Amino acid sequence: MPSPLTEKEVNRLFQLLDDNQLIFLQSYLKQSKKSKWLEKLAHKKGIVLHSNVSIDEVWEKLNDWELKEILDGGYGNRPYKCECGITLRYCYIVHHRKENKTYQLGETCLGNYTMMSAELIKDITNGFHKIDLERDEILIRYEQGWDLPTDYNELPLTEDLRTQIDIGLPFSSIQVNKIEKMFQHELLQVRRQRELDRIAQLRMRQSAFVSSSDVSLYSPSRIQSVTYEDVISQHLANLKLIREHEHRITYPVMLDKWNDLQEMMKNLRRGENFDYSKFLSRMFELLYYLKLY
Ligand SMILES: [Zn+2]
Repeated sequence: MPSPLTEKEVNRLFQLLDDNQLIFLQSYLKQSKKSKWLEKLAHKKGIVLHSNVSIDEVWEKLNDWELKEILDGGYGNRPYKCECGITLRYCYIVHHRKENKTYQLGETCLGNYTMMSAELIKDITNGFHKIDLERDEILIRYEQGWDLPTDYNELPLTEDLRTQIDIGLPFSSIQVNKIEKMFQHELLQVRRQRELDRIAQLRMRQSAFVSSSDVSLYSPSRIQSVTYEDVISQHLANLKLIREHEHRITYPVMLDKWNDLQEMMKNLRRGENFDYSKFLSRMFELLYYLKLY
């Protein structure tokens, strides 16, 4: 995560966006903050959020302070007033269902008027701060240029993520991590296939080259199968990475896969048969498992 931008820098970067991008980003941030509020409050009360329960039902159950709206007066303006009288750029409108009370508050006064615990307020404002960092990251990536990973085009992304791509707004690393996790299986398949295609093409080019020169120098099996040097030149960094983190492999199935992978490399070095597809599958599975990809 980049360091937080100043309000002035955020304002400058916001001006680079077109109307669609600006509206989309602001609504994404607002939604993220409302969800964060709900999540922290539910967590505090020991209520587990399920995707099959509507937000409204959760609020019905919580019967507590709900974040209804976040108003932003804009850079350099303080058009709102906190209950305490201080002027505000950002104003949080909170409503208590059961007591039917509504307050408009600045961040520092959230605790004073709602009587929510200091610890909960801290959790919420920390969450808000992380969302601001996410905003900064999106803005910085927008200015510096960011390429969507090509293999995301094939994924059945949610409508919001699809819109974000269509209007040309970069994903934050939080969004990328979510996508990687949600589509782990699909991405594994796509990436393994791409790697196999790449090697197949390489082999084709090599055999074309060989057949036009002195064929007798090469045995056919050597040309068609992958060599120890091929694999090392392509994947040494990944293998080293797994080695560095092998102490974190605790799941027995994954340990077996790691042992298997090492055994495969030894066998390949000895010139024995090698299943490259299986190798890639093992390696990517371990990278995903260790969250190194
Ligand atoms: Zn106040």
